[in-house]
Amino acid sequence: MLDDVDLLVCGAGPVGCVVAERAAAVLGWTVLVVDQRAHIAGNCFDSFHRTGVLIHNYGPHYFRTNDVGVLSYLSRFTEWIPAKYEVRSSVRGRLYPFPINLATLEQFYGTTLDPESGERLLRAARAAIPAPRNSEEFVLSRVGRELYEAFYLNYTLKQWGSHPRDLAPQVCGRIPVRLNRDCRYVDHRYQVMPRRGFTALFSKMLRHRKIRLLLDCPFREVRELVRPRRATVYTGPVDDYFGCSLGKLPYRSLKFEFVAHRAEYVQPCVQINYPNDFAYTRSVEIKHVTRQRHPETVVSYETPTATGEPFYPVPRPESSALYQRYRQLADEERARRNVYFCGRLAQYRYFNTDEAIKEALTCFQQIRQDCAPGRSPFASSSPTRAA
Ligand code: UDP
Repeated sequence: MLDDVDLLVCGAGPVGCVVAERAAAVLGWTVLVVDQRAHIAGNCFDSFHRTGVLIHNYGPHYFRTNDVGVLSYLSRFTEWIPAKYEVRSSVRGRLYPFPINLATLEQFYGTTLDPESGERLLRAARAAIPAPRNSEEFVLSRVGRELYEAFYLNYTLKQWGSHPRDLAPQVCGRIPVRLNRDCRYVDHRYQVMPRRGFTALFSKMLRHRKIRLLLDCPFREVRELVRPRRATVYTGPVDDYFGCSLGKLPYRSLKFEFVAHRAEYVQPCVQINYPNDFAYTRSVEIKHVTRQRHPETVVSYETPTATGEPFYPVPRPESSALYQRYRQLADEERARRNVYFCGRLAQYRYFNTDEAIKEALTCFQQIRQDCAPGRSPFASSSPTRAA
């Protein structure tokens, strides 16, 4: 039995790293971080391909945020480079700016537009659906059937293995529609990449004498061996924690293929989406945003799958309902044993990286408050350790 640990953290992804760092640096706690993978940084993990090109092993992570607090916290661990996240969609053999903007509409309808005529065109195309209940209705109400079928329908079918009408409006609602010529993928105020990559950032976060790290170590192997004095932060799949006792939550997974080329660049921009062709959804040449200078390049092809490591919670009503039942178990576990469930898999919610960091900072504040002297259910069993 390991009993000199204050905080046990399951998962060395962004959430686990942040909570571990805060607990060690602010509270002086001894932290043990375990991860079943052989590396840290979770799905933000980036590494050098055999060519020497830096790749994002689990799909592109385009860091962006409107939250100055999150940005300045992360800035303790990295410098940043400005980033331009630009995506095109390959439809009927042509590349269109995506998200849909004025230039997309001009190219698609073979006409010239300004914001007013663009708005008139979309107004005529849109379906009158005042309160969209699913992703299909959402897109139809924004751009109409023709653009929906060209850019969204088949991509979403591939990505989720579900019809857009069975998915929450927020799934396709993440993508803006613009009546200007802004061709950036997202609208956030800060769009930057860590200068030396995400793995370097998170490894600096974990570099603290109070933090120990065990890789290749599934949580089930330590959960009975480590009795943390303060709390546990669990960032793995919530259904796994409870042995899937209420049934398995569905997750969407991804398969990646990396192809090297002897050329500096082979794509015109970082990402190309293929809504209607191929089994893969997109090809990503991450060098466009890491801005690494290298004579070769690597393109990744992403194919969604129903099996494999859990990547995306599936935003369908029945999976949300099942999650709510697990959530109740998680709340009880927190009250009884100081186990905090935090992050995309533990909260069964899609988070962008900045949102995950924010969740982790909030979780840490909660733990700190709950474990303040006199408040912690564990305080009486270890009276010498003040937070
Ligand atoms: N989507 C689409 N066509 C595209 C890109 C996205 O229909 O060309 C839909 C799809 O359902 C996807 C959602 O919009 O899951 C959100 O897209 P985003 O690129 O934000 O997905 P992520 O990069 O987070 O996987």
